[in-house]
Amino acid sequence: MVAPPLVPFRQFVLKVHSRCDLACRYCYVYEHADQSWSRRPKVVSEETVVRVAARLAEHARTHALPSVHVILHGGEPLLAGPAALRRICAVLRDALTGIAELDLRVHTNGVQLSERYLDLFAEFDVKVGISLDGDRIANDRHRRYADGRSSHQHVLNAVELLRRDRYRHLYAGLLCTIDVANDPVAVYDALAGLAPPRVDFLLPHATWDEPPVRPEDRPTYAQWLLGVFDRWDAAGRPMPVRLFDSVISTCRGGPSLTESMGVGPSDLVVIETDGTLEQADSLKIAYDGAPETGYDVFAHSFDTAAGHPGVVARQQGVAGLSATCRACPVVRSCGGGLYAHRYRAENGFDNPSVYCTDLKALVTGVSSRLAAEPTVAAGPGGPLTAVDRLAAGSDDREPLLTLAAAQRLVTRGWLTVIEERAADRGAELPAVTRQLLSRLDEYPDAMELLLGHPYLRGWAADLLAADGSDGLASMAPLTAFAASAALRGGLPGAVPVPARADGTVFLPALGLIRMAPADVPMAEAVADGDGIVVRLAGDEARVVPGTAPDARWQPVGRLTGAVVLDDLDPYRDRYARPARERLSGAGADHFGETVERAWRLLHEAVPQRLAGLTAVLTTLTPLAGTPHDAADLRLAGGIRGMGAVGLTPTGDPAALARELLHGHQLATLDALVEQTELYDEAAPWSFTVPWTESPLLTGEVLAQAYARSATTAFAADPGRYAHETARALDALTEADVLTGVGEEFVAGIRAGLPADR
Ligand code: SF4
Repeated sequence: MVAPPLVPFRQFVLKVHSRCDLACRYCYVYEHADQSWSRRPKVVSEETVVRVAARLAEHARTHALPSVHVILHGGEPLLAGPAALRRICAVLRDALTGIAELDLRVHTNGVQLSERYLDLFAEFDVKVGISLDGDRIANDRHRRYADGRSSHQHVLNAVELLRRDRYRHLYAGLLCTIDVANDPVAVYDALAGLAPPRVDFLLPHATWDEPPVRPEDRPTYAQWLLGVFDRWDAAGRPMPVRLFDSVISTCRGGPSLTESMGVGPSDLVVIETDGTLEQADSLKIAYDGAPETGYDVFAHSFDTAAGHPGVVARQQGVAGLSATCRACPVVRSCGGGLYAHRYRAENGFDNPSVYCTDLKALVTGVSSRLAAEPTVAAGPGGPLTAVDRLAAGSDDREPLLTLAAAQRLVTRGWLTVIEERAADRGAELPAVTRQLLSRLDEYPDAMELLLGHPYLRGWAADLLAADGSDGLASMAPLTAFAASAALRGGLPGAVPVPARADGTVFLPALGLIRMAPADVPMAEAVADGDGIVVRLAGDEARVVPGTAPDARWQPVGRLTGAVVLDDLDPYRDRYARPARERLSGAGADHFGETVERAWRLLHEAVPQRLAGLTAVLTTLTPLAGTPHDAADLRLAGGIRGMGAVGLTPTGDPAALARELLHGHQLATLDALVEQTELYDEAAPWSFTVPWTESPLLTGEVLAQAYARSATTAFAADPGRYAHETARALDALTEADVLTGVGEEFVAGIRAGLPADR
C-alpha cells in the first residue's frame, strides 16, 4: 500500500534526451552503477510530454501550488533539438496556464548553446544553468568529449552568449563539481569572472562502497570549500552560492536552501524519457535501479509517486536520519548530507554521509567565521548604534539578540514579582514549581528557553493583571513551561509535568500527550536522547518531538530551522486577530511548505532582513481572518515574546513573507518600547498618513511605518510605498513628539528605505 504524500512535488526534472555529447568522468548517469539510461528512448516522445503536462496540471491543482519548477535535463537536453524543445515548452505552458506559474529551466553542458536555442528560451522564459568546473585546467580534468578533446572554450562561448544584453535575463548560474586536485581560488575566480547570478558547488558523487578520492597531498573537501568560502566572503559575497548560503541560513536558525545539506524535505521527482517516475538522479550511484519507483506518468499521478516509501524517507527531517546524525551537533545544518551519499550495501541509507567529516568541518568552519564577524556595522556617518541598526533592518543580529535578552530579563522579573505576591498573601509557589525553577537556574540554556518562550510572557502578564483576584491560585502553566524548557534544555533526570483531569499532558513548544486519565495532578517526563518518556500513574508513553501525530501524540509542528508551528498552546491568543484552531495534518503540511517558500523568497529579496528575523524567531502561530485588515495594521496585539509571529495560513508565499516581516517588526518594536521611550505617550497627537483615511496615534504611525519599511520589497509599487512611509515619518519628526532615541529610531527607519523613493 502507498502512503499518502507528506509533501507535494514542486521540482520536476524532465529528461528530454537521454544521451550526452560529453563523456565527463564523474557523470552519475553513464559512469555509475545504474545503467537504466541504455534501455530508454533517446528523446522524450510528444505523447509522453502531453501526459507529463496533464499530470503536472493535476498535481498543481490538487495542492493549489502557486508555481511548479520544471528543469529540462538529460543526458544533454539540447541534443533534443530546438523543434522538440519548442514543442515541450509549449505543451507545458499550455497545460499550466491559469493553474500555476511555470518556472522553466534547462541544465546544459553548454557546448551546443547557440542563438537559435536562446531565442527559443527567451520566448518561453527558460532560465539556463551551465555546468562548468572552473578554469581550463579544472574543467578539462573531467569535462571532455569522448575522444578526449577539451570542452572548455565551447562552454565559455556559451556563457558569453548568455551574458549578452539580449539573453542575460535567462542566465541562471553555473554548476561546478568539486575536484580537490583543482586550486579552489583559481576555480572560484574563473567562475566569479563570468558574473553568474548564482553558483552551485557540488560534491562528486560517492558512497561508502565507492568513497570519494582523497589524495594525501591535496586539501580535504572541507578545506577546499572553506578556501572558496573565504575568497567569496573577502570579495563581499558578490553572488549567491547555494551551499554556503544554506549553511549560513541554517547556522542562523533558518531553513536549508539545498537538497544536499539540511533537513528540509525533498520535493523533487524525475521523469525519464519513457515517462517513468524516479527519485533524485544522484541515487543512480548507489545501485542499479536505486532511483526507481515503479510508477510512470501514464498510469500514476505524482501524488502516487510522492507516497513512495523512498520519497517519503527523504521527507522525515531529523527523525529520518541515522542514529549518528540524529546525535550530531551540526545535524540541522548538515542534514546527513545528500541522501545518495549515505549509501552502503550492507545497510542501505541508514548512515551518515560518506562526506561526514568534511560536512562537519565545513559547518563548523562557516559558523566560526560567522561568530567572528564584527557586530558593529560601519555606516556612512561612522559606526551605527544599536537603535539605528534595529531601525534600518541591517543584517546585524546583535541588537536583536540583545533586545531579546533584555526581554527575557523583564520576564524573569515578572516571575519574581509573581512569586513575591504569592508570598505576600501567605502562599508560596507549589514545591514542584519552585524546585524546577531552581534546577533551571543551574542550566542557563534551559532557563533561556523558559524565559524566551513567547507565550510564557502572556501567561505572566495576565496573572499580574489579575492582581487581587485568585489569579495566583494555579502555577500549573508555569510548571509546564518550565518542564518543557528542562526537557529541551538537557536537564538530566525526570521533571514533573501537570496532567489535566482527562489525562492530557501539555508540554509547551513540544506537544500534547494523551495519557490514561488518572486521579493525580502530576505526570513525570524524562528525555532519553531520541524522545521523551511520559508517565502518569500506571500509564507510560514515549513520544519523539517533530514526528507525525497519532492517537496519543499531538506534536507542535516543526518548521524551518528551530522554528515551530504552534497551534496548540493555550496562551497563544496574543494577536490582533484570534488564533486559529489547530490545523489539520494536511493543512499544517501545506502551511509548512508555504513557510519554506516564503523563507526562500525572503532570502532572495531581503536577505539582510531574513538574517534579523532568524536571529530571534522561534514560533509561528496561525491566525483566523485575513491579513492586513484594519486591526492588524493598528496594533501588534497582546503581550508575547518577540520570538513569536502570528500568520494567516495562506498558500501564497509572497503574502506570508510580507506578513512574517510585518509581524517581526511589530514584535521588535514592542520589545524596544518596553526598554526605552520613543515618543511622548501622554501627548494626544494624531496623524493623517497617506495609506489610510483614519487618523492614527503616534505609536500607530511609528508601528505601521516600521512594518512598512521592512515590507517595501513586496509592495506593488515599492517606490511609492516607500515615499508614503517617508512622509509619515516626516510627520512624526515635524510634530516634535519623539524623544531623542525616538528621533534616532525614525532617522534609522528612513535610512533603511530605498533611496529612489
Ligand atoms: S556531519 Fe556527519 S554525523 Fe553530522 S549530520 Fe552530517 S553526516 Fe550526519
